[in-house]
Amino acid sequence: MEELRENLKRINERINEAASRAGRKPEDIQLVAVTKTVETERVREGIEAGLKVLGENRVQEAEGKILELGHGVQWHMIGHLQTNKVKKAVALFDMIHSVDSLHLAFEIEKRASALGKQMPILLQVDLAGEETKSGFSKEELFDALPQMAGLAHIKICGVMTIPPFSPDPEASRPYFRELSDLREKIAGIYPEGIRMDILSMGMSQDFEVAIQEGANIVRIGTALFGPRCCKRG
Ligand SMILES: *Cc1c(COP(=O)(O)O)cnc(C)c1O
Repeated sequence: MEELRENLKRINERINEAASRAGRKPEDIQLVAVTKTVETERVREGIEAGLKVLGENRVQEAEGKILELGHGVQWHMIGHLQTNKVKKAVALFDMIHSVDSLHLAFEIEKRASALGKQMPILLQVDLAGEETKSGFSKEELFDALPQMAGLAHIKICGVMTIPPFSPDPEASRPYFRELSDLREKIAGIYPEGIRMDILSMGMSQDFEVAIQEGANIVRIGTALFGPRCCKRG
C-alpha cells in the first residue's frame, strides 16, 4: 500500500514536471492507471490512494473488478476488442481506447444503440505498421472516418497509439508527434460530429515525452504497480 502511494506520488510529480516544462497545465493531463493483471484488492488500494481512471485490456478480467469495485471510478478499455465481447464492453466501460477497425465501430454502434447509450471511443492508430499491433493505418483511418462520423451512438473523442517498444523513450517521440498532427488534421476536417480532443499516448516508459508532444491521457501500469507477471502483459 505504502509503495503504491509512493509510486503514485512520484508519477504525479513527474506528470507535473513534464507538463510545466512543456508550458502545459498538469490538470489537463489525465492518468489512466493500467490495472490489467493486478488483483482486485490492490486495485482497491489504488482507488483509496486516489486513482480516478482505470485501464483494462480484457473484458472478462475487467468485468469481475468492475462488479466488485463499482463505478465510483471510470473504467477504460485499452486492449484489442473482439466482436463477441462488444456487447459486454459497451455496458461496462466508460471509454474504449482501442477502436481499430470500421467493423468494430459498427458493432459498437449497434450495441450502444440497443442500450440507449452513446459510447465514447478513441481511434487506435498503428503508425509504425507493425504486424503484431492492431490499429488503423493512417490511410485506413481516413477512408473509414466519413462512415464513423455518421454513427449516432459512438462519440469519437480522439486518437490513441502504442509506439514500437524501445528502451529509449526518445524513440517514441516521432510517433507521438505524428499522432498529434493526425489529431489536428482530423479535427480540422470534421469540425462537427467528431470532437477529437483526446490524445491517448505514453506509457511507463515514455509518458514524459508523450506529455511534451501533447498527450492529455497517459496510460501507466508498471511504474505504478510494478512489473506484471509473464503471461498477460
Ligand atoms: C499494458 C498497457 C499499458 C501500460 O503499460 P506500462 O508499460 O505497464 O505502463 C498502456 N497501454 C496499453 C494499451 C497497454 O496494453
